[in-house]
Amino acid sequence: MTVSVATLGFPRIGLRRELKFALESYWAGKSSRADLDNAAAGLRLAHWARQKALGADILPSNDFSLYDHVLDTSALIGAIPARYGWDGDRVDIDTYFAMARGAPGDGDRTGCGHAHDRTAQEMTKWFDTNYHYMVPELTAGQRFRIASTKIFDEFEEAKALGYATRPVLLGPVSYLMLAKGKAVEPLALLPALLDIYGEILARLAKAGAEWVQIDEPCLVLDLTSEQRNAFERAYARLATSGPKLMLTTYFGGLGDNLGLVAGLPVHGLHLDLVRAPEQLEPVLEKLRPHVLLSLGVIDGRNIWRANLPALYWRLKEHAAKRDLILAPSCSLLHVPADLALETGLDPEIAQWLAFAAQKIEELAALAMALNEGEDASFSAFSASRIAAVARQTSTRIHNPDVAARLATLGESDTSRASPFAERRKLQQRRLRLPAYPTTTIGSFPQTAEVRKARAAHRRGEMDDAAYAQYLRVETRAAVKWQEEIGLDVLVHGEFERNDMVQYFGEQLSGFAFTRAGWVQSYGSRCVRPPILYGDVSRPAPMTVDWWRYAQDQTDKPVKAMLTGPVTILNWSFVRDDQPRAVSCRQIALAIRDEVQDLEAAGAAIIQIDEAALREGLPLRRSEWQAYLDWAVESFRLTSSGVRDDAQIHTHMCYSEFNDIIRAIGAMDADVISIETARSQMELLDAFASYSYPNEVGPGVYDIHSPRIPATDEMMQLLSLAGKHVPAEQIWVNPDCGLKTRKWEEVRPALVAMVAAAHAMRVKGAYDARR
Ligand code: GLN
Ligand code: ZN
Repeated sequence: MTVSVATLGFPRIGLRRELKFALESYWAGKSSRADLDNAAAGLRLAHWARQKALGADILPSNDFSLYDHVLDTSALIGAIPARYGWDGDRVDIDTYFAMARGAPGDGDRTGCGHAHDRTAQEMTKWFDTNYHYMVPELTAGQRFRIASTKIFDEFEEAKALGYATRPVLLGPVSYLMLAKGKAVEPLALLPALLDIYGEILARLAKAGAEWVQIDEPCLVLDLTSEQRNAFERAYARLATSGPKLMLTTYFGGLGDNLGLVAGLPVHGLHLDLVRAPEQLEPVLEKLRPHVLLSLGVIDGRNIWRANLPALYWRLKEHAAKRDLILAPSCSLLHVPADLALETGLDPEIAQWLAFAAQKIEELAALAMALNEGEDASFSAFSASRIAAVARQTSTRIHNPDVAARLATLGESDTSRASPFAERRKLQQRRLRLPAYPTTTIGSFPQTAEVRKARAAHRRGEMDDAAYAQYLRVETRAAVKWQEEIGLDVLVHGEFERNDMVQYFGEQLSGFAFTRAGWVQSYGSRCVRPPILYGDVSRPAPMTVDWWRYAQDQTDKPVKAMLTGPVTILNWSFVRDDQPRAVSCRQIALAIRDEVQDLEAAGAAIIQIDEAALREGLPLRRSEWQAYLDWAVESFRLTSSGVRDDAQIHTHMCYSEFNDIIRAIGAMDADVISIETARSQMELLDAFASYSYPNEVGPGVYDIHSPRIPATDEMMQLLSLAGKHVPAEQIWVNPDCGLKTRKWEEVRPALVAMVAAAHAMRVKGAYDARR
């Protein structure tokens, strides 16, 4: 029996984000198509060579993408919406990028430069990751045809370099389940799509592909009977001819879909044994014996080093009975490429980590031990064991004070002293705000100068004093300007913050930061998630000085601005040695300390952003409530330590929250601001069946677009909101922070927004008199 090693996908962006720079230079017209192609081919070559050298036996192809693998699939099958005006044989690169990023349409006669009819496809989160995919758009009578040769070209390219790869192809059912249909239920298009998939597979077989990795991550979701049928139909059709199919599932266990999957006539099955380790035995029991199993035993979603001896003992018996493939749980797309680049990390912490390259080495060591005996991987195993013990016992991780504090928490720590109705009276007396109070979400434009100053400070070219002085000038100007245009509740502008999570992580104990730990978020955009490795505490106040400085410039209230515990957790690599709920509660305590210091300093309004609350929802419905319970509790732990007359705000930037509206109500923030402008207040439908008890600021200015909204347009949105929420409960604010916008856009938009609030007040007074 043999054990081999496979990877399901390697980070595309390059060790030094080469792809990002190549793309952005091409988009800016500074380099040619050939330059871009060369850079991309260079990366593919490097990635194959690297994976091979690290010990992978089975290498993927077509895991690379210039933008996104779902978009690649749309191009492959010719699902190009009509507005891109494409009628060629092959999708050209400019159409491809137009689908990704939008492009001026032919109708752009106004010359304003932004998209009119070639707007980008929608983008949304890839399952529960922070990666975004381009949502396929399908229409009734949709035709499919092979319109991109990328998957074949990359297979040939690898072959020419001496690598016989296993092409990666997003499966037809998951593709349709991720798509949105216009006047068509996407799954209804399955028969037509299967014709094309049949062609694609036949062509890959002809090119010499023995296996194809066909990704069906939707098999870990709750499925309707129609969706189950689709899987049955699809694989009955696809698995019978062409290359062997490695049906690849990840991001969870098969759960109640196990019977379905076991019945599919595929040749191989990949399981995520990190998220669902317990599924191995039940799968083995059900699976036909000749099906080749690929076990995702190394965490593709997190950065911790594995415990190799423990895995060895877990797998030994199975490896003696059947051939196995060992693999990361999912594509390595979701972790940084190489720990070796992290020269600045504390060596004690670095010892506990494994990035993409290290994870392949772990798999290779594990496979070697299973094939040749434990001694064959003696040194890798000892190092792994030592790191595991060091991590379990490190004083850097365990802080008894944090545990003791958590143990003493009671119900009174997670609820405000009085119910909202009473708090509200006290807050009104203290704040004396008009009807339709106006505010913003926190950040003002992070201009090139602001970023330049930060970079200069980081490099040591600008000293602390000069940098602080620069930030004070910016902050003061922003405060003065807000005062001038007549906003009611001001903000300091967040000029000192690099990122809403990183800024806090850097000041909390228990977090580490990488130098080059980039992970693709979408297209050329990458993030460097903080690493939450230990018990969290807050050594010193983090935001009080900036709040105080801003408040000193004005008599209007300045809202203090914090990131909430759930968002910090969801946007970090988190500990795998304790439940997420516990990590979240620890962060909540630290932010609670900050809230209380802000209150003591005199802040009457404190906003705690929970931008990422919704995206932490588990993939299976049955697990939602447990998550929402601890998430809401953590928020309340953060916000409940203040007096009744302190007003707590929260902000969320997504519009689909109808299904979690009760949990949002249970957070009991005095005011919530939410994204709505793009959906024309659609989300407020949630308030039809559930009357949201507290105050709401439905965003009236879509900050994702450079468009400057007109006053009457914003009034209309406010009137619409008034249909669902009593006028006394409505705040007036943009959808989200303004950091990505330019001052030239922000200034007129906010002036118009203030005018809209004024007009609503007058209208309200007039309507009341009638
Ligand atoms: N306060 C943050 C800002 O204004 C909120 C950002 C967000 O919701 N993503 O930038
Ligand atoms: Zn937001």
